[in-house]
Amino acid sequence: MSFLDATKHNVTRAAEALGLSDWEVLELNTPRRELKVELHLRRADGTYSTYVGFRVQHDNSRGPMKGGLRYDPRVDPDEVNALASLMTWKTAVMGIPYGGAKGGINCNPRDLTREELQSLTRDFTDELADFIGPKVDIPAPDMGTNSETMGWIVDQYSKYHGWSPGVITGKPIELGGSLGRTSATGRGCLFALLNVLQDRGESIEGKTIAIQGFGNVGSWAARLMAEAGAKVVAVSDVTGGMRNPAGLDVDALIAHVQETRGVKDFGGGENFPGGELLTSSCDVLVPAAMESVLTAENAKDVQASVIVEGANGPTTPEADEILRAKGVTIVPDCYANGGGVTVSYFEWVQNLQQFSWSEERVNRELKVIMDRAWVDLKAQAGESNDIRLAAFKLALSRVMAATNLRR
Ligand code: GLU
Repeated sequence: MSFLDATKHNVTRAAEALGLSDWEVLELNTPRRELKVELHLRRADGTYSTYVGFRVQHDNSRGPMKGGLRYDPRVDPDEVNALASLMTWKTAVMGIPYGGAKGGINCNPRDLTREELQSLTRDFTDELADFIGPKVDIPAPDMGTNSETMGWIVDQYSKYHGWSPGVITGKPIELGGSLGRTSATGRGCLFALLNVLQDRGESIEGKTIAIQGFGNVGSWAARLMAEAGAKVVAVSDVTGGMRNPAGLDVDALIAHVQETRGVKDFGGGENFPGGELLTSSCDVLVPAAMESVLTAENAKDVQASVIVEGANGPTTPEADEILRAKGVTIVPDCYANGGGVTVSYFEWVQNLQQFSWSEERVNRELKVIMDRAWVDLKAQAGESNDIRLAAFKLALSRVMAATNLRR
């Protein structure tokens, strides 16, 4: 099943459980608006490359639309559609006043110079300038983009609309970014894990963790989980896998990655094929890279008893069923990685109020929202171990309530 079909499947399953009509299901599975733009980039060597940029605005019943911009060669309309839909459900589960959107460019940022990325980003912003805004649709970082990218966007957008820091989140601190935003998604993964463990009467101390993806989300989750007492025993990225059963020195590994752009050949562990990470020996698995990586083929070999979905959509519906039947607790993406968009919300609030919070306040308020959402999810799930179904039911009810009040 494709990622988009899987997303629609999850929506439909929850809608059926809630007794929604076929027409409502169709409405919930259809985005409000899809933008597609051509971007012509003059490369440093004088040649031209053409890319396609997308922004899918899925739903705005609960507030302005919100979601990241992904720069990756695999970006295509179906992927952006699925990710935009997931943002609607994520903001609803977290109980923050946004709808959902997503966008991206089908480029490989690893192949582009900083100047080329800046030029592409500014051209993309020119195309989006009439369709985004602090009260309409607020982009943010995702895979392949970072605070520098967001800085170019706020600058370019502000040329049309006057200084507007609330148009985008994940900005550099100097341009109205929030303290604590960079670490927020990884921190949210930690809070999600702590909540699951607490319910099981277990501690994080000594728990072994395997993390797929060592970008912003994976590296912060690793650092914060290790700081909390867990042992990060394996990580992987595009360069391969790195493991150490005694626990990796995460800070040293991050320094190695900053230097060499990958986990491969880190001195404090042994290389292994990255493809083996998901089925490696661990208590907790954190898929924090791509969608659709846990499949019917590998799910039966997963050894973890808890999965914290740092990535969006890492588990296919087939794998979901196999894993739940094995008794694995799956903490779904729309809660597990909801810390990122939650601190984006705090950033936007600070921008609108022109008042900045301390990092301590950001982290404390993030915990409040993560804990509240967990209580809501547990109430929705009851005795069932299908937290994803509970999350979709909770999100759909919130979105439908707002939609019906505005008809
Ligand atoms: N790209 C992140 C996500 O998938 C963050 C979105 C945001 O902050 O708006 O949740």
